[in-house]
Amino acid sequence: MSNTLAPWLQAQLEQLLHQRGHALLLAGPSGLGQYPLALALARAWLCEQPTAQGACGTCSSCHAVDVRTHPDLCVLLPETLSIELGWPLDEKTQDRIDKKEIKASKQIRVEATREAVAFTQFTRSRGDTQVVLIYPAERMNVEAANTLLKTLEEPVGAVRFILATEAAHQLLPTIRSRCLTHTLAWPQPAQALQWLATQTGADDTTAQVWLAAAGGRPDDALAWSQAGLDAKTWDGLPTAVARGDLAALADWTPDRQLEVLQKLCHDLMAVRAGGEPRFFARERLPKPPGLRVLSQWSKDLAASARHVEHPFNAGLMLQAWAARSREVLAVAHGRNNP
Ligand SMILES: [Zn+2]
Repeated sequence: MSNTLAPWLQAQLEQLLHQRGHALLLAGPSGLGQYPLALALARAWLCEQPTAQGACGTCSSCHAVDVRTHPDLCVLLPETLSIELGWPLDEKTQDRIDKKEIKASKQIRVEATREAVAFTQFTRSRGDTQVVLIYPAERMNVEAANTLLKTLEEPVGAVRFILATEAAHQLLPTIRSRCLTHTLAWPQPAQALQWLATQTGADDTTAQVWLAAAGGRPDDALAWSQAGLDAKTWDGLPTAVARGDLAALADWTPDRQLEVLQKLCHDLMAVRAGGEPRFFARERLPKPPGLRVLSQWSKDLAASARHVEHPFNAGLMLQAWAARSREVLAVAHGRNNP
């Protein structure tokens, strides 16, 4: 991973380096850069020669963070995310996953939280500071959160915590109240576009589509670029969906397929209510049906979202969504084009 932060995150980092609290909560909707900001902050706190801009990037502590072996940094993530972001799992867990005895968890396990608490009680081996980074903090269940609570209240020595979340309202109030909250800032669209173009080498039109598809959240936009989304596909989606043709979505994961339908539904509702669409260009949208029909569709999609991680049969599910989309959007065509 590159250590160069996006400019709006860099500005927030410099601001946060002035904070003295021992526990920080980085909050905001997904895709605004909670993880890179949290890691940059941890790296700066642990750095041997930090500057006002953050970690020096050259000392042995910075190097140890970069190769993910810093003895004073504990990164607490769901196992699926550890694997994705290249943080090593403890040997026992890795072994059990390799042997297919357990599946990598999407939650932060209680056992892992207990180990993080134990970590704060170890003797420090490098400098004066120890850091525990937890992301996404809302993936701790009540038991895990309670395990952490006491340490968060009365940290031993010079332990500092960074909790990063995409759903602060799902955290225990007792956790929230022990942290100093920083709400992540949204970048200016032009700034985000430029950053996206630099990260991906894409042209402006394509970067614009990714950013729109992600509702303006740069990290989510980067994920769309990695999913291989192109401008033509995105622009063609609304009319294709209205025809019940979801072929363009077939290679995406079910949760992403559903996300697209939810975004389309959102935009149609916005337009129907006299507002502006957020994810798709207005001229690409089919005529919206009535709000009652849209609101029922929205509820159906939300209900599907609750089961989308365990699809019975992804292909069949996509077919069902296609039929439902055509039905919803055909109402408009019947009514508006008699
Ligand atoms: Zn350094």
